[in-house]
Amino acid sequence: MNGKINTKNAAETKQFAHELAKQLKGGEILCLYGNLGSGKTTFVQGLAEGLGIKHRIISPTFIIVRSYKLNKLNFFHIDLYRVDSASKMIGLGIDEIFNNKKNIIAVEWAEKLGKTLPKRRIDIKFTYLNKDQRNIDIKSYE
Ligand code: ADP
Ligand code: MG
Repeated sequence: MNGKINTKNAAETKQFAHELAKQLKGGEILCLYGNLGSGKTTFVQGLAEGLGIKHRIISPTFIIVRSYKLNKLNFFHIDLYRVDSASKMIGLGIDEIFNNKKNIIAVEWAEKLGKTLPKRRIDIKFTYLNKDQRNIDIKSYE
């Protein structure tokens, strides 16, 4: 699951994520990086749609972890924007979430995981090109 794409609007980013979601089997940890407004949450919305989740995905303000139950899997949307130390997250059980193969996890601001960033992961970097265009760069590890 490696490659780069430029999307020309939010709908295209969602569509791209929607297609990508169909390749997920469980156990994937999608680590999302990029400035505010670069499209991470928009991507997660498409991902959730592609997984068959009907709930509307929003930018969590104070809720860091949201989980959605699927047929056999769980989808986790984690947003570390307001978290300053990842060690707090370990106390909250983030490692149990990561280690469960029934979970598909998308983490916004994944760089904040620091040393707890899992080795086996899919890095997805978002770059703002202009008002409506974003570059999305995907690289899988292990
Ligand atoms: P982040 O979670 O990275 O802060 P959001 O997904 O919340 O970013 O916000 C991205 C904003 O940019 C949204 O308002 C979205 O409609 C807009 N946008 C414009 N073009 C794109 C694009 N090509 N891909 C994703 N979002 C886009
Ligand atoms: Mg966001």
